[in-house]
Amino acid sequence: MRGRDDSAAGVESGPVKPAPFDYVRARTLDDALAALDADSKILAGGQSLVPLLNMRLVRPTRVVDINAVPGLAGVRARPDGVLEIGALTRHTDLLASTLVRERLPLVAAATAHVGHRAIRNRGTIGGSLAHADPAAELPAALLALEAGVVISARGGERRVALDDFFVGALTTLLGAGEILRRVEIPDPRDAAWGFAEIARRPGDFAIAGVAVALHGARGQSARARLVAFGVGDRPVRLRAAEAALSRTAPTRELAARAAAQAAADCRPVDDVHASAEYRAHLVEVLTERAVADAIGRLLA
Ligand code: FAD
Repeated sequence: MRGRDDSAAGVESGPVKPAPFDYVRARTLDDALAALDADSKILAGGQSLVPLLNMRLVRPTRVVDINAVPGLAGVRARPDGVLEIGALTRHTDLLASTLVRERLPLVAAATAHVGHRAIRNRGTIGGSLAHADPAAELPAALLALEAGVVISARGGERRVALDDFFVGALTTLLGAGEILRRVEIPDPRDAAWGFAEIARRPGDFAIAGVAVALHGARGQSARARLVAFGVGDRPVRLRAAEAALSRTAPTRELAARAAAQAAADCRPVDDVHASAEYRAHLVEVLTERAVADAIGRLLA
C-alpha cells in the first residue's frame, strides 16, 4: 500500500505499511533456526525492525518472531564471575535488574539513555547489538566492558568478541540463519566506569557519546577501554586515549590528557544533526567528563 501522495504540495510520502511477508512465531530456538533463511528477518522488540519494514527499507520474505522462545531473556552471574545477559532481555529489565545495577553500572547508565520508556519496554539488548546503529549506547558500553556474544546457528554455536562483531553501519558479523543468543561480560568487579553523551533531546539517539571502563587494582589503572559512539560507522575504540591512561597511576589530570587524544581515532561525518567538526569537539569534552568520573570512582 502506498502512503498519501502529497506531490501537489511538493512532498511525496513513502509507503507506511510493510511489503507482504510470512510470519513465524517460533516456540523453540531450534524452530527459529529452522525457519530462518537468507531472506528472513528476526523479530525481537521490533523497535528498529518495524519502522524499517514500514518504510520498506527492508523487505524480508519471512519474519521469525523469537519472543516466545524460552531461555533467551534474563541476567545471571556464572560461578567464574562472567555475567550473561540473554539476547531477549528488554532494556527495562536491564534497568530493573539488581545484578546489572550492582555489577554493571555502566550498562545501567547507558541503558537509561536509550529512547523513551515505551521503546525500552520492548527493545532488547540482542536487537540493539544486532541492529548496530553507530549512535547506540549499549554496543559502546558493552565493548568498553570487553564483552562478547554467543551466536547460534543450525550447525552449533560460536563466540565472537564485540571487538570483531561490528563491521560497519548497521552491519555485524551475524550471518543468514544465525541468532544472537546471549552477551557474555567478563567479571567486571574491578572496573571503574564513566559515561557521557550529548543528544538534542532526552531519548534521542546521541550526537556523540563516550563509554569508559578502567580495569585495574584500586589506585592503579592497568587497562583502559574508551569507546565513542555517534562518531564513526560503528562504536569506535579511542586507542590513543586508552594508551594515555593505561599502566599509569590514575590522577585527575589524566582526564585532560586522554581528552586531548580522543579525536585521533574518530571519523565523524556531517549530517543534519551536527557537523563532523562539532562531533570531534564533543568527543574530547565527553571523554574528559567520562574519564574524570571513572577516575573519581577508582580513587573513591
Ligand atoms: P528489532 O527491532 O526486533 O530488530 C532489530 C534488528 O536486529 C533486526 O534486523 C533483527 O532482525 C535483528 N535482531 C534482533 N534480535 C536479534 C537476535 N537475537 N539475533 C539476531 N538478530 C537479531 N536505540 C538506542 O540505542 N538509543 C536510542 O536513543 C534509541 N532511541 C530510539 C528512539 C525511537 C523513537 C525508536 C523507535 C528506537 C530507538 N532506539 C534507540 C532503538 C531501540 O534501542 C531498539 O530497541 C534496538 O535498536 C533494537 O532492538 P529490538 O529488540 O527492538 O530489535
